[in-house]
Amino acid sequence: MKDLSKIQSWVLDTPNFIHDLIDKDNQRGRFQGQVVTRFPPEPNGYLHIGHAKSITLNFGTAAKYHGWCNLRFDDTNPAKEEDEYVQSILEDVRWLVGHEAFDVLYASDYFQQMYDAALRLIERGLAYVDSCTSEEISQMRGAPTAPGIESPWRNRTPEENLKLFRQMTAGEFEEGSCVLRAKIDMTSPNINLRDPILYRIKKAPHHRTGDKWVVYPMYDWAHGWEDSVEGITHSLCTLEFENHRPLYDWFLDQFSEAHHPQQIEFNKLSITYTMLSKRNLLELVKTGYVDGWDDPRMPTLSGLRRRGFTPSSLRKFAEATGYTKTDGRVDLSMLEFFIREELNKGARRVMVVTSPIKVIVEDYPEGKTEFAVIENNPEDPEAGTRKVPFRREIWIDKEDFSLQPPKGWFRLAPGTEVRLKGAYFITCREVIKNPDGSIKELHCTHDSASWGGESPDGRKVKGTIQWVSVQDAVEIETRLYDKLFTRENLADLPDGKTWRDFLNPASLVTERAWAEPSLQEARPGLTYQFMRKAYFVPDAPSYEHGKLVFNRTVTLKDSWTRKGN
Ligand code: ATP
Ligand code: MG
Repeated sequence: MKDLSKIQSWVLDTPNFIHDLIDKDNQRGRFQGQVVTRFPPEPNGYLHIGHAKSITLNFGTAAKYHGWCNLRFDDTNPAKEEDEYVQSILEDVRWLVGHEAFDVLYASDYFQQMYDAALRLIERGLAYVDSCTSEEISQMRGAPTAPGIESPWRNRTPEENLKLFRQMTAGEFEEGSCVLRAKIDMTSPNINLRDPILYRIKKAPHHRTGDKWVVYPMYDWAHGWEDSVEGITHSLCTLEFENHRPLYDWFLDQFSEAHHPQQIEFNKLSITYTMLSKRNLLELVKTGYVDGWDDPRMPTLSGLRRRGFTPSSLRKFAEATGYTKTDGRVDLSMLEFFIREELNKGARRVMVVTSPIKVIVEDYPEGKTEFAVIENNPEDPEAGTRKVPFRREIWIDKEDFSLQPPKGWFRLAPGTEVRLKGAYFITCREVIKNPDGSIKELHCTHDSASWGGESPDGRKVKGTIQWVSVQDAVEIETRLYDKLFTRENLADLPDGKTWRDFLNPASLVTERAWAEPSLQEARPGLTYQFMRKAYFVPDAPSYEHGKLVFNRTVTLKDSWTRKGN
């Protein structure tokens, strides 16, 4: 039984042209008013955020129309596909949609049916074995402005073709020596209809069918079959398949008894500074430029998850990019907007010092500890408070102290007063320097009546800074991620350049930091705002190894668009 309630846990309800078309179909009673979609990844890499756009559309549409969505592995090319990718895709889809209410299907399960259908095309004179090389075939295919040339093998008899195709299937021919082609029209203005290839020989073991097959179906032939067999009503794909639609329809039209879905094309996601191509992402992994498919700089779902993105932030982003008929590029800051919004509501505010200066509160008793009560999240009254130990020696950030403060400086400086978040007002009395002139420590005094950070007499202290008790500090590693590429538009590159020329050497900066003791309890799933710095999450693989490492998900503000870039 299909669990229809789970799939409705979220829906795609921003109006779009696809839903308008479905509404029209439903009004006409087409497909009996049913909506069945599918997400059809090829298991030749990990899923990326472009796939999130497709997943959000397919699952969100099925949910909206009380229908169903299949996860179908389009595993028709044995050479590039691996079980590792199947497992990662399963995990990523479950994570992104947030439920398991979908069928997991494999195109390879339909190989026999597709093969039998191909035999019928041959019998009816609609397909032939072409013994030309692939170079010859592509040359004879012609150009958009010039008609193609018919292959010398095009008029083989059905008997001869059946015999040859069976020999192909039995492994009697070498790879590349022949293919099975549909016999449609070599003069069609649509090149896809110029006798497209149905099957080619590949002598590589398949991740599921092993050595059973040596002929494998091409995408256009296979995809319509897969959709038809599964009873898909609306087959949603990206715009580059628009001029494949006549072929999709031609194939299914040859089988009048077959269920015939409606293909609808939408805009492909493209993001500034971001490369979305499994083949190129694989190269980054293989060359070791990144730390695997789940490196937090990667635009993969596993990378984004490790970086701290949530399923709902990615779905909201996908929905906001819109489903239309025109390709475009969206700004990377738009992706950051949706996670920042969630983290602002949900992340715990904690105090972390990244480049420490020691402060000694001279008039605070040695050995004494008090506990500052700090709100976990001022945006969320239900988030509660926690206690942070305060002692005589604390770390503050270098950037919160200035020897020669500029005008309007509210933080600490010689002789000035500042509020330590949730603790005392302190005044800097003396700056102790190292022999090389650098600052060794600051000697301060405190106002014992200002505990909690409240002004005891109404005097104004504008600056509030974070601090960490030296004795209680937890040492952590922070990983500051930036864009993987320095170039905004990776689709259009200057002459002679490739994307490899635009890798950002500063995409990862690793730092040590000193955190309040509550970070000792950090674990994957919890989210933090390091006050006045950025949002961070514990790095899951490091946590497994007992290390406190934090990944910067996103900065507090969008510094990029503010700079006017
Ligand atoms: P890539 O070029 O990155 O390898 P692909 O399109 O070859 O991607 P598939 O595994 O074939 O990857 O894609 C599965 C589904 O995801 C397809 O329906 C495809 O149209 C969709 N998809 C892939 N990339 C994007 C994208 N950038 N935007 C929207 N949908 C996408
Ligand atoms: Mg592909």
